[in-house]
Formats: sequence, structure tokens, C-alpha cells
Amino acid sequence: MADFIPYGRQSISDADIAAVLDVLKSDFLTQGPVVPAFEERVAAMCGASHAVAVNSATSALHIACLALGVGKGDRVWTSPLTFVASSNAALYCGADVDFVDVDPDTWNMCPARLAEMLDKAAGEGTLPKVVIPVHLTGQSCDMAAIHAAASKHGVRIIEDASHAIGGSFAGKPVGACEYSDITVFSFHPVKIVTTGEGGMAVTNSDALAEAMRLDRSHGITRDPALLEEGDPPGWYYEQQRLGFNYRMTDINAALGLSQMDRLAQFIERRREIARVYEEGFAAIGVTTPTQHRDAGSAWHLYVIRVPADRHRAVFDHLRASGIGVNLHYMPVYLQPYYRRLGFSPGHCPEAESYYDEAISLPIFPAITPEQQQRVIDEVAKAVSA
Ligand SMILES: *Cc1c(COP(=O)(O)O)cnc(C)c1O
Repeated sequence: MADFIPYGRQSISDADIAAVLDVLKSDFLTQGPVVPAFEERVAAMCGASHAVAVNSATSALHIACLALGVGKGDRVWTSPLTFVASSNAALYCGADVDFVDVDPDTWNMCPARLAEMLDKAAGEGTLPKVVIPVHLTGQSCDMAAIHAAASKHGVRIIEDASHAIGGSFAGKPVGACEYSDITVFSFHPVKIVTTGEGGMAVTNSDALAEAMRLDRSHGITRDPALLEEGDPPGWYYEQQRLGFNYRMTDINAALGLSQMDRLAQFIERRREIARVYEEGFAAIGVTTPTQHRDAGSAWHLYVIRVPADRHRAVFDHLRASGIGVNLHYMPVYLQPYYRRLGFSPGHCPEAESYYDEAISLPIFPAITPEQQQRVIDEVAKAVSA
């Protein structure tokens, strides 16, 4: 059988390996100088004032919700087309979640639907504290429109940009936080830049950054400016709130910092792969991704939609042909855990129709032209069968 083509794969260079080895030979495996260097690098790339590195995007989403004051009885809304972590983070805080249906073209949170739901909730006194738009596939949501709808009601915004580091919206990098309070990135190996496991929260707010720094490390600080004790001895630190151990290690940060050198290259290569798919699929009956005029996608995923009645057959054919297709995502609220919270089919029709048709094709920097042609040929064969 022909070689297996995964849907995503990390790209590790000799420079990445050397950077990790340097940390292993250094004095600090964690809480040394590399985590802050990685944070500064990402913050500078985004044009944001602060970046807080943590051990996963899930952790970043959790401390982002906490920093915005999400607690028991609060409401948080996100997109149904996301990894469960976007929504679970709100549940960790004791909040109730709901889902805003997606735009049928971009598959991202629909700003008009959000505005409508917020107006209704305002009338009923059930406004969410936070909304978490998700940049599915690496394409930014229409953040200007989402911000306009949310700020009308004083609702705060966390961007789940786990797919979107290196992408842009309205000419600015995703992570600039022009239209949000906090933006979160994931560095899981399938994502655009990896640290093994890891995540980061970026923000322009001093107070939010400070709260997230406390929460990632047990709620502990040694910063003299933050201590409650006026004349502390040398050994002194304070636990000021109930935080977590969500720290990133210097080993992981070294990989991420080194990977940042190639971010532009990664994005350029992913755009090229997307262009080849777009051309390859122009002639056959599959729906290729629509791009919002203001969004420059980072192309974490390349998703096609095929007729619902052929969906499972096409998917199975591709898997059987050694092509590691996937589906990102089943609407979160259809997961058994969420159904037990009271959600049922029909809640977000556009997301469910996407789920009936979507297939994620292989996209990663090292995919070869031959492999990509094989994907296109097998998709063509499968949809016309
Ligand atoms: C990967 C992902 C996460 C979780 O990232 P981790 O770093 O694995 O915790 C959250 N949201 C989305 C949209 C993701 O794709």
C-alpha cells in the first residue's frame, strides 16, 4: 500500500533540536530565561503588550476565563465548531455554556447570530460574561463585527486562536487583541508552531496579564510590587489566590522559540498547499473553504465539504487509501457529556450541516506535491463513485 499521509505533522529542524539540547545542558529546565524569551517573541510578533506561556491552550483558556472573572452562575458562549477545550474551560470555572451558530460560508461564529442572541439575552437578563470566538482552520472570525456586537452589551472576548498563529485580520496579526481582551494559542504538535504541549495567552491589559501569571503558578508571587507584606525578608513569597501549576518548561519554550524563526515560512508553505488544493478541486463537486475579505488564514486545516449522502463513503475511501483525513469538529454540544447537560440536535443547524459534510485533508509543511496530488485524485475518485 502507498505510504500513509497524516492530516497534520510537526516540522522539526536541526536548529530546533539544538535549541532544546542547549536547555538540557543549561542550569534551568524550567523557570529559566527561555520561557520569557519565547513570551517576548510571540508578544512582539502579535504586537501585543503581554504574553503568558502555559502548558496547554486548554490551561490558557481556563486562566483567561478566570482573569475575566468567570465564575459560578456566569454564562460563556463559544462556537459549536471547536475542540471541546474552548467550552470545557468555562465549565471548569463553574459557568454555564451556550453555543452561537456559525456562518455558513466561513464556518466561524456568525456575528449577526451573536448580535441577535445578545439582544435577546439582554432583554431577559441572561447575558454571557464572555464570548469565545474560535478561528476555525486558521481563518480569523470577523472580529470587528463580533467586537461590535459584544461591546454593545459589555461582554468580554477571548479569541481561541489555537489554529491561527501567523494569521491576520484587517491587516493586523491574530493576537494583536485589537478586538478582544485575550487571545489564546496552542502549541500542540498538530498546530502551526509546536512546543510538544503548550499554550499562550496574549493581552494588552496589564491587569489581565498579572492575574494570568498568578493563576498559572499556584497564585504565588515574589514580585515586591505585588506583595501584601510591606517589608518582606529574602525568602518570602505569597500565595494570593488559588492558582494552578500550568507553567511551561524552558525545554518546551526552547522548541517554540526556535520554531518562531520559521513561522512565516510555515504559513507561506501552508498557503501554497491550500492554493494547490483550491485549483485541484475547482473542477469537481466539492466545496472548498471561503475566505473572509479581512482574514489572512494561517491554514492550520484544509476542510472540504462533500454531499451529505456521500460523506461517510468518501471519508472511509480516503482512510482506506492511506490518507489520514479527519473531521474538525462534531458540534461540541453533541458530545455525550454535553447532551447530558441538556443540549440536543437541532441547536445550531449550520454547524450540524457542516458536520454532515466536512472532511479535513492533509496539510502540513512537508507534504510533497506527489502526496498532495494523490489526495486530490482520491477525493475526485471518491466523490464521483
Ligand atoms: C488544540 C485546540 C485547543 C486545545 O489546545 P491544547 O494546547 O491541546 O490544550 C483548544 N481549542 C482549539 C480550537 C484547538 O484546536
